[in-house]
Amino acid sequence: MEDKNLLQGSGDYAERQWETALRPRTFSEYIGQKKLTENLKLFIGAAKKRGEALDHVLIYGSPGLGKTTLAHIIANEMGVKIRVTAGPLIEKAGDLAALLTNLDTGDVLFIDEIHRLSATVEEVLYPAMEDYKLDIMVGQGPGARTINVPLKKFTLVGATTRIGLLSGPLRNRFGMNLHVDFYPPEDLKEIIKRSAKLLLVPIEEDAAEEIAHRARGTPRIANRLLRRLRDYAQMLGDGTITIKEAKEGLERLEVDKYGLDDLDRKLLSSIINKYGGGPVGLGTLAATVGEEPDTLEEVYEPYLLQIGFLERTRQGRKATKKAYEHLGLKIHPSKPILKGLSD
Ligand code: ADP
Repeated sequence: MEDKNLLQGSGDYAERQWETALRPRTFSEYIGQKKLTENLKLFIGAAKKRGEALDHVLIYGSPGLGKTTLAHIIANEMGVKIRVTAGPLIEKAGDLAALLTNLDTGDVLFIDEIHRLSATVEEVLYPAMEDYKLDIMVGQGPGARTINVPLKKFTLVGATTRIGLLSGPLRNRFGMNLHVDFYPPEDLKEIIKRSAKLLLVPIEEDAAEEIAHRARGTPRIANRLLRRLRDYAQMLGDGTITIKEAKEGLERLEVDKYGLDDLDRKLLSSIINKYGGGPVGLGTLAATVGEEPDTLEEVYEPYLLQIGFLERTRQGRKATKKAYEHLGLKIHPSKPILKGLSD
C-alpha cells in the first residue's frame, strides 16, 4: 500500500539519501529564516574574528524545519568537523565522555532531541559545556574517586522539538537560543524549486506554488511531497510536474488545501464530534485517534495551533471556528466554543 504518512518518522533509506542530497551546506543555500540566519552569521563572524570556538547553540522548532541543516552549516561556516548524535543514543555517562574526548578544538557536537538526555548524562554535560572538562567517577564504594579530564574547546549544538522539556540548568548553558519557525509559502516555493533543480525534476511555477501552500510550513514535507509528485508525474505524464498533476497527486495523498492530512482531520473532527468542540485532554484525544500523546504534541499540534485551528487551554484542546468551517461542520448551538460564535 502507498505510504501516505508525510509527517512522521525519518523515512526509509532512499528518502534519507534524498534528504541528505538536498541539505543546504552554506548560509547562501539556506532559504528563509532571515532574522535567525543574520544573528547566527554575526555570532559566527565574531567567534572567527576572535579565533575562538563558537559558544554553544540551542536550536528549537518543529520537526523538519531545518535544525540539523543549521548544525551542519554552523560547522561548515566555522570550518570545523561535526559529530552527530541524539539524546536517546547517549545512554551512559561514558558514551558522552567518549564522544567529547574525541573532539578537536572548535569541533561541533550536534545532539538532536537533546531534551531526551538522561539526568546522569546531563550532569556530565554541565562542566563539559561550562569549563571544558569532564568530572568522571571511577571505582565504587569507599575507593570511588572523581578524575578530571580536560577537553578541547568544542561547540555543542543542541536541537529540540520540545523546548519546554529542557531542564533550566541545561538551557542556561547555551550562549545562543535560536527558534526556527514555520516557513511562509513564498520561502517553501523557493525550497521546492531549488530541490527540483538539484534533482532534475521539471516542475511548473504554479505547481511549485501549489505544493508550497500544502506543505505545512515545513521544508521536509515540501521535499517529501515533491518526491511523491515526481513519481506521480513520471507514471502519468512526461515527468513534468504540472499544476494538474500536482493537484491530482496531492488529492491522492489526501493532503488538503491547508496541508492537513488524514490524522489532522481525524483529530479535529474527534474534538468536534465526540467532545462537543472541547476542551478535551491530550491523553483522551490521543487514545481516540489512536496515536501517542507525544506524537500529537510534537508533530501535529504545532501547525494546527499556528494556523488557528486548535486552541490549547488549561482544560484541554479546543477546536476553533476556523476548524469547524474547514471541515464543513456546524457548531453545536448549546456549546459555543469561542466568544461570539453563537451570534
Ligand atoms: P530538522 O532537523 O529540523 O528535523 P532538517 O534539517 O533535517 O530538519 O531538514 C529537513 C529537510 O528540509 C532537509 O532535507 C533540508 O534539505 C530541508 N531544509 C530544511 N530547511 C531548509 C532551508 N531553510 N532551505 C532549504 N532546505 C531546507
